[in-house]
Amino acid sequence: MAKRQTFADKVAKIKGGGAAQCPKCGEVLSVVKIWQAEEAPSTGRQRMVEKIVKVCKCNSSEVFG
Ligand SMILES: [Zn+2]
Repeated sequence: MAKRQTFADKVAKIKGGGAAQCPKCGEVLSVVKIWQAEEAPSTGRQRMVEKIVKVCKCNSSEVFG
């Protein structure tokens, strides 16, 4: 029987991923939660979507603007 994945397991996995290193710069990736504007396909309107992204100096300017 498949092991049921709880929300706590998912969160633990995201946190564990924070120890990963960027293959480009070798910096430890930090996991951050951001709100990003995204176009809803059904309405074409902008809506705010919560996203979890891994950030290092390679993409921090894109993520934080
Ligand atoms: Zn990097």
